[in-house]
Amino acid sequence: MSSLKTILSGMRPTGKLHLGHLVGALENWVTLQGQYKNYHLIADYHALTTNLDSSGLYQNSVDMTIDWLAAGIDPEKSPIFRQSQIKEHTELHLIFSMLITAARLERNPAVKDQVRDLNIESVTYGHLGYPVLQAADILLYRGELVPVGEDQVPHVEISREIARRFNSQYGEVFPEPEPKLTKFARLPGLDARRMSKSLGNTILLSDPPDEIQRKMRTAITDPQKIRKNDPGRPQVCLVFTYHQKFNAAEEQSIEADCRSGVLGCVECKRRVAEKISATLTPFREKRAYYESRPGEIRDLLASGERRARERARQTMADVRTVMKLG
Ligand code: SF4
Repeated sequence: MSSLKTILSGMRPTGKLHLGHLVGALENWVTLQGQYKNYHLIADYHALTTNLDSSGLYQNSVDMTIDWLAAGIDPEKSPIFRQSQIKEHTELHLIFSMLITAARLERNPAVKDQVRDLNIESVTYGHLGYPVLQAADILLYRGELVPVGEDQVPHVEISREIARRFNSQYGEVFPEPEPKLTKFARLPGLDARRMSKSLGNTILLSDPPDEIQRKMRTAITDPQKIRKNDPGRPQVCLVFTYHQKFNAAEEQSIEADCRSGVLGCVECKRRVAEKISATLTPFREKRAYYESRPGEIRDLLASGERRARERARQTMADVRTVMKLG
């Protein structure tokens, strides 16, 4: 048995990934490979909480897997698997749903944010309970750490509560997972809101250079810098945040030139778009390689699912033993 701690990380398959995914999650996942035992979950059941159309889930899962691989996830070290293919997720979710009150879930700020962002009129039972499914996702693999952005910390807290409740009610099976925050936890979208496909403010990891330039031209900047030579305030400018992330070598000169008015926003945006394109060049090349090999993707998902299922079955056997359901 490996002595490495276990990390469960996952995403909903909503298609091709964007820069926010890279900065908020993928870079971190790649760094964590080798230091921990990682499981990478394609949360396809979670996708149904906000979109009932399941027809695109498989292709979206494939697209997301290709992005993960292109970003450097090694499926030999870290199994990649679809939640819907491991039935133990739903079994543990059902048991966990008895261990938390509806009132506790209604207080969850992340669901409130989603309802607002997506204009959802009434929340379904499944949507309200998705942190419970998330707890099952994590604890099925006895995840000890969960890499998350700050907005997801309340969910990990719910997983901890459920683990405690289960252990005290039935017997010690689960660790209490801890959130593991990423350093650069969130990259805003081009309109300064959360970067999200549904908000139409993303740069995709697969976007070619001219598309990145085009999108960057739409990014909002310091509203007080109207003409090229007006002094700007980089600290309130979204484009400067992108420079800090993708053009750190020039951060200081960009900051000074913006403040003095030497640098105009058009040129500033062109330069950061160029840096982003350069960062994504190896990613696009790897993506093209995997895109032309759908059989390879199918096989690696099947292999990841076999490995995940094995671990999930061990956990459910322990759950059934302590609950005396055997
Ligand atoms: S020059 Fe650059 S950093 Fe300054 S306001 Fe314009 S886009 Fe932002």
